[in-house]
Amino acid sequence: MEEITLWVGFAIEIVLIIATILIISSHLRRNSRNNTNIQLNEQYYKSLFEENPDAIFIFDLNGKFVVANKAVSIYGFRAEELIDKPFTGFILPKDLEKVTAHFLQAVEGTASNCDCTILDKNRQQREISITNIPIFVNKEIYGVYTIIKDITEHKKAQSDLMEAEAKYRSLIENSLVGVYIMQDGKLVYVNPRLCEMSGYNREDLLGLNVSEFIYPEDLPLVNENMRKRFNDETGTMKYEYRAIRKDQSVITFELYGSKIVYEGRDAIIGTVIDITERKNTEKMIKHMAYHDQLTDLPNRYLLREKLNEAIRASKQNNCHFALLFLDLDRFKAINDTMGHEVGDQVLIEIAERLRDSVEEKDIISRYGGDDFSVLLPESGEQRASQVASQILTKLSLPLTFEHHEILVTPSIGISLFPYHGQNSERLIKNADLAMYHAKSLGRNNFQFFDEELNKKAQHELDLEINLRKALEQNQLVLFYQPQVNLETNQVYGAEALMRWIHPEKGIVPPAEFIPIAEESGLIIPMGEWAIRTACQENKKWQLAGFSPITVSVNISAKQFFQSNLVEIVKSALTDTGLEPNFLELEITESITMDVERSISTLLELKNLGVKISIDDFGTGYSSLNYLRRLPIDKLKIDQSFIRDCPNDINSNTIVRTIIVMAHLLKLHVKAEGVDKAEQVSFLLEQGCKEAQGYLFSKPLPVTEFETDFMQKRLG
Ligand code: C2E
Ligand code: MG
Ligand code: MG
Repeated sequence: MEEITLWVGFAIEIVLIIATILIISSHLRRNSRNNTNIQLNEQYYKSLFEENPDAIFIFDLNGKFVVANKAVSIYGFRAEELIDKPFTGFILPKDLEKVTAHFLQAVEGTASNCDCTILDKNRQQREISITNIPIFVNKEIYGVYTIIKDITEHKKAQSDLMEAEAKYRSLIENSLVGVYIMQDGKLVYVNPRLCEMSGYNREDLLGLNVSEFIYPEDLPLVNENMRKRFNDETGTMKYEYRAIRKDQSVITFELYGSKIVYEGRDAIIGTVIDITERKNTEKMIKHMAYHDQLTDLPNRYLLREKLNEAIRASKQNNCHFALLFLDLDRFKAINDTMGHEVGDQVLIEIAERLRDSVEEKDIISRYGGDDFSVLLPESGEQRASQVASQILTKLSLPLTFEHHEILVTPSIGISLFPYHGQNSERLIKNADLAMYHAKSLGRNNFQFFDEELNKKAQHELDLEINLRKALEQNQLVLFYQPQVNLETNQVYGAEALMRWIHPEKGIVPPAEFIPIAEESGLIIPMGEWAIRTACQENKKWQLAGFSPITVSVNISAKQFFQSNLVEIVKSALTDTGLEPNFLELEITESITMDVERSISTLLELKNLGVKISIDDFGTGYSSLNYLRRLPIDKLKIDQSFIRDCPNDINSNTIVRTIIVMAHLLKLHVKAEGVDKAEQVSFLLEQGCKEAQGYLFSKPLPVTEFETDFMQKRLG
């Protein structure tokens, strides 16, 4: 473009010069006799030649300088020093042939132009443009008129521009991000990366309208942002949109755009980065943070959010909703006896059945462990009852895993917004309380929250606070229940049973406070106190001269798994001086939930020399296999089986089986809860010689036990 302008400039200049010469010569002709006029015209000609800002030469036909104007000084020369020198001496060899050819063309009578490089006076290269014009005198070619223009700067600017253009082009073409130029809502430039991202080739993309590849939902936003961009309402901005690739898959991309002028008109230039993978990862992380990995159900955090949403919506629309809290009955036993893998499968299946029991709008979540919740939006008591019954029915159907049939039943607690709580925490807490109530009512049922449950919970909390004080203020005592040899009727031992002497309520039975102590962890210091006290009192009887008995102390599972139980037992024995064979520890079958750890603790206890019995035997889940491996001495048949003996055939069978099994395993067997004489005859018939129960005595305070039993045993 600039080349053409230059040439047009030259042409105009040449025309001007020729016109001037013609005018001058016509003047000369017309006024040939007028000397004054001739002189004037010579001056015109001279000025045009001399004052021209471009260097002008006249060459003879051999290419030697004849005359030059002042402007040759641009190149460092004086006109005089060039006279008679051939132009060839100034041209760079690379251009010599071309320049000579052009010169000869002028000599032949045709004006011509060319560019070339010369050396100036300082031996510096200069880019010039040459115009050769033949000089005719009397129709004969007399020489060549040459005008040269310095185009060094122009050439340099041109090459800089080309370099910059090549640099940017290469950058954009090889860019790792997509680059586009858009005009009138259509793509007018795309780089290869953008083609790669979109799956289209360049030809497909060019001319494509945004509506043809932008995800329909994002299109209004894209159009609005493009309008703002064109109206310069924003600077360079970052946007996030989705687009449809040629293969119809959806990508998410980040786009920067700014306004430019492209080919004379407004356009937007920008970059595009494919962030689909990043978005997917973000989505996955968010999903993981709000969902349970095993069942893929929302977790407790999402439940809380959904609850808050439901509260907001219900307040706004003046309606209610229900929250069901669900716990699987005896799930722990499944986990313990069948392994965690089966436990996991059960949870997955339960989640599936829950999904089947509710509608799309309801939100099921796994709150943790075997606790699930169901949020029923816009539902009251009636729908909550319907869904709860449906869940009970669906979940009660047996599950089959590896040819085992497993029965899982849930206990469900329900709270209703706004009646049972105004915030998510209260609603969860109250549904949970209702669920515990359902459990206490025999499981596999549902219960709504009511204020009584709250009072009960408050009562238990008060109890816990007071229980802490009880331990500090010595309000705990041990009662003793004699254990009798059925053949000899002799007392050979006693079970130490804890009682709380409450300053206002009097004697509180363990059923009321042991579960709270277990839940709060207080059972650990209380249990330690029981071991020490039982050892101390037993030793005291021995020191008083009564013939020795074995004292049995109950150990709860939580206490059994505390890290220093063995140490506690050992120091209680050492400190009181009781020989270990006079101490028996009653553990429950639930310790088989971690059989390996139980075995090692039991072995350590056995090494101390104490006896171990399994309390309430028959009510737990210990398999014969576990029983065989546990280093124990005795089984205590649970009183629920003894209660109906010998009149109930089933109880008789169970009791008989336990006795036979104990004998086979070479274990002692003891019956508890014996309160009728016929039970004694039955037990003796079956070969069980040890028992305790109301028939012999209730648990007694220490002094009464001493007078009623120990004193009769004076050694
Ligand atoms: P357990 O170890 O099975 O104790 C036997 C329970 O049966 C005692 O109840 C006892 O009074 C009761 N009992 C004994 N003979 C008869 C009878 O002929 N008929 C009836 N109906 N009941 C009889 P208690 O003392 O109320 O203790 C209840 C439970 O509390 C105990 O059951 C034991 O599991 C727990 N417990 C008691 N003291 C302690 C303790 O110091 N530590 C721990 N961890 N638990 C304890
Ligand atoms: Mg016991
Ligand atoms: Mg018992």
